[in-house]
Amino acid sequence: MVCCCAFPGCANRAYSWSPYRFHRIPLADLNLRMLWLSVLRMDVNTPPAAMKHLRVCSAHFTDDDYIGKGENKRGQLHLKDHAVPSFSLVNFTFFTFFY
Ligand SMILES: [Zn+2]
Repeated sequence: MVCCCAFPGCANRAYSWSPYRFHRIPLADLNLRMLWLSVLRMDVNTPPAAMKHLRVCSAHFTDDDYIGKGENKRGQLHLKDHAVPSFSLVNFTFFTFFY
């Protein structure tokens, strides 16, 4: 199943050739989950079961959000425990959408 990024305005999809990584919404940490939901402009009362299929692509994270980026050539990037998607990193597909 091809899923798309849950970030508002982002059109990136999880195709096998996509240069982006896709990350699940953290369900275990309630505070962190609330932060993600507010960034994604989703209802903070969204049940976890409804978030299982949502993904956020790597366009919304910086190198600092990853453990060992650049050291692992196999692309197995892992987000740090407290990484949160950033508003400031909306990629240009968001803007081209309007032109
Ligand atoms: Zn995205």
